[in-house]
Amino acid sequence: MLERTGVATSENLKEVTPGKERLSKGPVAIIECFQNIPCNPCYTSCKRGAIKELIDINDRPMVNFDVCNGCGVCISNCPGLAIFVVDESYSEKEALIKMPYEFLPLPKEGSYVTGLNREGKPVCRARVEKVLNTKVHDRTPVVSLVVPKELSMTVRFFSLDDYYSDNTIICRCEEVTLGEIREYIRQGYQTLEEIKRISRCGMGPCQGRTCGQLIMQELASATGKRVSEIKTFESRPPTVPVKLGQFVGGEDNE
Ligand code: SF4
Ligand code: SF4
Repeated sequence: MLERTGVATSENLKEVTPGKERLSKGPVAIIECFQNIPCNPCYTSCKRGAIKELIDINDRPMVNFDVCNGCGVCISNCPGLAIFVVDESYSEKEALIKMPYEFLPLPKEGSYVTGLNREGKPVCRARVEKVLNTKVHDRTPVVSLVVPKELSMTVRFFSLDDYYSDNTIICRCEEVTLGEIREYIRQGYQTLEEIKRISRCGMGPCQGRTCGQLIMQELASATGKRVSEIKTFESRPPTVPVKLGQFVGGEDNE
């Protein structure tokens, strides 16, 4: 499968991914290098000795997850662009992924891009936290992206286009566009609760499951804060209208 499509399968990924407990502890390297090739810069660049010794140069690199501290040095040394550092301890709802990026222009720190999965399909909106471009010996630049935590093992590329435009409906329950939210923020509405009350975002049946996170990203972008610093709004269980007769007269309604 991998040989035919170039896309790692879940079996491939199981071999190179640490357990949930290690992932939750902090940054760790995940080396998605699945073939026996004569290559070793990952091993020689890791001064912590976190990559197990390659007895034969064709051996596949294996990380000792207890030794790796997620510094990311190996990312920019890998000619195969096969190394990622995942940090699930970044915030309650987000993970940070450090990844190689060899295109120009480089993204701007603080901007939003579209996170892509291993097949190149868009899966989320992601914030560019940091761009490291050492320019030493033509090392590959490393971009740190903030993504929803549940996608920490899914996002592996990104596109510079932010696929959310002003016309994108971000609250499907109340049909509110991103442009309307941006206008409210420009007018001075600075909290999720204020935006909920003025726009009705988050008051529909889904109770803000989708729009909440997107509005928080927009507020974070406008105020220069992290998404985790934006206070979420209060969710209440969905209600359905009932007739008063049901309370007083025992009207039978299934
Ligand atoms: S992230 Fe740092 S410590 Fe971990 S394998 Fe790469 S170079 Fe070594
Ligand atoms: S440097 Fe990159 S491509 Fe080469 S063996 Fe290490 S992970 Fe694989």
